[in-house]
Amino acid sequence: MKRISLIAILTIAVQLAVLAQPQFNIQGEEVYKGDDVVFHQIDEHTWVGTGHIMFNESLYLVEGDEKAVLIDAGTNIKDLDKIVASITDKPVMLVATHVHPDHTGASIDYFPELYINPADTVGIPQFMPNYKGDVKYLKDGELIDLGGRQLEVVFTPGHTPGSTTFVDKAAHYGFSGDSFGSGNLLLTTNFSTLLATCEKTSKLMADQGIEKLYPGHFFGPNEETPQRVDDLEKIAKGALSGDIAGETNPGAMLGLDLFINQYGVRVNYNEKALK
Ligand SMILES: [Zn+2]
Repeated sequence: MKRISLIAILTIAVQLAVLAQPQFNIQGEEVYKGDDVVFHQIDEHTWVGTGHIMFNESLYLVEGDEKAVLIDAGTNIKDLDKIVASITDKPVMLVATHVHPDHTGASIDYFPELYINPADTVGIPQFMPNYKGDVKYLKDGELIDLGGRQLEVVFTPGHTPGSTTFVDKAAHYGFSGDSFGSGNLLLTTNFSTLLATCEKTSKLMADQGIEKLYPGHFFGPNEETPQRVDDLEKIAKGALSGDIAGETNPGAMLGLDLFINQYGVRVNYNEKALK
């Protein structure tokens, strides 16, 4: 009897744990699985790595003929350089979508250089104070040439001042980190900044035929789409005009104690974001 109760309790606990996790369904062949990260193939020369410390923090490996770019480094992935070298034999350049500990965590130390948007330098003292390598700066609109493949650097501030998206125009997709929230945007700047970013990105996606942006917390079915960007634009406009009022969420992450939940996306912010 005692044993049955224990099994029942364990079963309930597992079910609750599963319910608490967003749906996880990443397609594609698993090419690496370790304690800290799992890598799946997106297409022939592109992979997504998934960590398990901060809501499936995602990193992306994008390979060209001559070099590869690693977009973000997760929270704390031991031997990330060796793991990446087991997937690509090309030299790897590390870039970040933004300076936050689940994207520029301890594993950045395996790489001698890290490229960021200079506007996120403000986050370095708090979020990556111990990096021993060289911090280098990206430019808005610059092209990173990987040999037969290019990534365009697109500054998309909002989540942080220096949030950045990397677009592969030929592949019709990009990688946007937390710029559009993966379904749950933490807006640490303000709605005017978010609005400008959505307008810029919406135009870019339409002009370049970009169908989706792989997010910083990828569960499988939650890529950012043109629709998502338009919805965030509507939320930003509504918040600024006062047409959409926020609800309170005391004690929320990063002091973002207000939120708007509309169009299937949640935006977390605070009073300062309205000024
Ligand atoms: Zn994140």
